[in-house]
Amino acid sequence: MPDRYLSWTASGPGGFVASRLGLPRPEPLIRRRPGRPDISGPVLVGDGTGETGTGESDTGTGRLAKPVRELLDSWGVTVPDAADSPAALVFDATGITNSAQLSALHAFFRSRIRSLAPCGRVVVLGTPPELAGDAREAAAQRALEGFVRSVGKELRRGATAHLLLVAPGAENTVAGTLRFVLSARSAYVSGQVLRIAPVAGGQGDEALDWGAPLAGLVALVTGAARGIGATVAETLAQDGATVVCLDVPAQSAELRAVADRIGGATLELDLTAVDAPARVAAHLRKHHGGVDVVVHNAGITRDKTLGRMEAAQWDAVVAVNLTAVERLTEALLESPSAAQSPVLREDGRIVCTSSISGIAGNVGQTNYAASKAGLIGLVQSLADDPGLSNRRITINAIAPGFIETLMTAAVPLFIREAGRRLNSLKQGGQPVDVAEAVAFFAAPASAGVNGQVLRVCGQALLGA
Ligand code: NAD
Repeated sequence: MPDRYLSWTASGPGGFVASRLGLPRPEPLIRRRPGRPDISGPVLVGDGTGETGTGESDTGTGRLAKPVRELLDSWGVTVPDAADSPAALVFDATGITNSAQLSALHAFFRSRIRSLAPCGRVVVLGTPPELAGDAREAAAQRALEGFVRSVGKELRRGATAHLLLVAPGAENTVAGTLRFVLSARSAYVSGQVLRIAPVAGGQGDEALDWGAPLAGLVALVTGAARGIGATVAETLAQDGATVVCLDVPAQSAELRAVADRIGGATLELDLTAVDAPARVAAHLRKHHGGVDVVVHNAGITRDKTLGRMEAAQWDAVVAVNLTAVERLTEALLESPSAAQSPVLREDGRIVCTSSISGIAGNVGQTNYAASKAGLIGLVQSLADDPGLSNRRITINAIAPGFIETLMTAAVPLFIREAGRRLNSLKQGGQPVDVAEAVAFFAAPASAGVNGQVLRVCGQALLGA
């Protein structure tokens, strides 16, 4: 269902009327396009040094401004001292150790924020508060989160804000995350906090291939016949992966069409069947020698308020959205014998599809929200499991907000309009926005990103 309001306000007369009436004016977002650079420049990078001019609130030297400037330089992005319309403002706040020094943050952004280009980026780099040296530093670092979430809500014209919390020792593994948040791939992600941990025995950022990050890897995408799953399959294939597209036999024709388009393979089965996990594992081992990326995307809704919800509606949703994910993950991680390694290979990636409903709750969705919140529990528990971490496997979740799909096209007009506008970007997301976030987690460059939930929701007010 096209967003006619967005098209109208993007036109000259529509934009004029909307601004005179004080109506929201969603910016057409700049998304990834072949031939267009991933990151448009210039990017201004600051660390607060000399920013306030007061001496006493000057920050110490941050850990990240220098490596970030070097990274941007290696990507061919210009990093001048000043620019009229910067594509991004990046502030290294890792040198901030007390609340007085937060004024450097204010000083850096206050003088530059209004010059940010349309669809520009604000990126603040900090230290995870729990790793701070003392309580004052922890408070100052936690303050960054409130700052970034508020900036995201103030920004106009499609611009977004992010906080990257980089653990000491992880300075050489920030490239993947920094590139994602600065690039057109994160167009519909804003107000998010991403943590980056050091990677033991992993490759450094130098060895990364940005053109085809998933080249040589095999990815499984469940629920790939249509909607978000079909776009995830396409995006992973564009990034170089061989994709196994899985869906129920009733979706056979659609599934084959997706697989044919991307040169992928199909696997038709119902994930809730008792033998489904074993069949998927056997198929991946036999035809692909294993799997590197698993995207649990298949999901269903059976909405009813609790007093009217039948047991079958509860059971169906939990069975597809949560139990099937648990069972398949277990099957792909277990070693069938001492001689055989698990189907999910070392350096593997698991991505679960949660929902902002699972974070904020939603009327009529007790079953769905419980299943989607359960996925977050699964992700957070398995992220610390030695069975995964010893083999450098990561597991993360995405939590989409209002995404323009057949599912949301069926929502009544008034609720649909509210879903579209009640976020900082004043529009719904596209399936490709979710797919880009999945591709980010799936990439080798995301080795230090584990156990996280990334909302792809334009910074929805729900559960913010
Ligand atoms: P969709 O209904 O268009 O597609 C889901 C696919 O999963 C379908 O092809 C379906 O056949 C498949 N599937 C369902 N049950 C299955 C089973 N038992 N075995 C195998 N395949 C099965 O949905 P969508 O809108 O593309 O959503 C994809 C995922 O994103 C879901 O997990 C959904 O909960 C989540 N999500 C969507 C939105 C949104 O706005 N569309 C928001 C938040 C989260």
